[in-house]
Amino acid sequence: MIPPIASQFVAGETPAAAFDHIRETNEDGVKVILNLLGEHYDNRAEADQDTATYLQLVRDIGNTDLDACVSVKPSQIGLDAGDDVFRENFRAIAEAGDQHDVFVWCDMEDHTTTDVTLDAFEEFAREFEGGIGLCVQANLKRTKDDLRRLVDVPGKIRLVKGAYDEPREVAYKEKSEVDAAYREYLEFMFEQFEGGIAVGSHDPAMIEFARELHDEYGTDFEVQMLMGVREDAQRELVADGYEVWQYAPYGGKWFSYFYRRVRERKENALFALRAVVGQ
Ligand code: FAD
Repeated sequence: MIPPIASQFVAGETPAAAFDHIRETNEDGVKVILNLLGEHYDNRAEADQDTATYLQLVRDIGNTDLDACVSVKPSQIGLDAGDDVFRENFRAIAEAGDQHDVFVWCDMEDHTTTDVTLDAFEEFAREFEGGIGLCVQANLKRTKDDLRRLVDVPGKIRLVKGAYDEPREVAYKEKSEVDAAYREYLEFMFEQFEGGIAVGSHDPAMIEFARELHDEYGTDFEVQMLMGVREDAQRELVADGYEVWQYAPYGGKWFSYFYRRVRERKENALFALRAVVGQ
């Protein structure tokens, strides 16, 4: 069982618990992006198993009236076992999403995976005429060119700052540089895209900037934040009329995800410590 301290960030261990979380979150007007925890499988069997779970999740979401979709990680559905395994599994999940009218997101992992992930996304987004989305990272210098390539591709694009520790040759390392790149890329998207923009950030400055760009260019956008992070802000944005999606992970492999969330912010670590010492 997931201890209460971790359940702030993780929607349970089972699909049933995850669906309860979706229902509760939808009641606040916040939509849910469900992610089954798991990554870096170097054998096909594990990748196929998680793919099968995603196929079932897509069918189950499609059979409800819940506001929910899924997000997969390339290395979870086979990238470390082979590019062909990843492409086959991604295509199967995108096809199921198309059949059941459930949106499918693809997360972005470290820079060595960007080309193969982008190529697969572009092919399947064209094949299924949208219905899928891709995450791109502001800390990567290449992202401006990738966004140019994505202008005419159907589907949605989630812009995040980037979670991987990348080499200096390919990435901005200073927070100020990443923030400046985020603004530049976001403005490019509002200027050039017809919609399908997802602002994947908890940063109040970036969200405010997106609101300003929306007023200037009129392009639609949605905000995406993680479960357990600024949930008050998620509800406030809904009250202000914005579309908000909460990325909610679930599954048995919750510990390392929880540990990452606790380590990345002092406030989270203090919260965890208080729970452990019972104060
Ligand atoms: P930061 O620069 O970390 O923080 C800026 C400000 O935001 C802070 O000063 C504070 O005001 C506020 N803030 C940030 N965190 C908190 C918090 N925990 N509590 C309260 N306030 C906070 N990365 C990838 O590399 N690939 C992915 O596929 C990917 N998918 C993502 C999907 C979603 C929906 C989200 C939200 C993030 C995803 N990320 C992904 C992670 C992302 O790259 C960043 O590492 C992460 O979002 C932190 O950056 P930030 O924009 O939130 O702001």
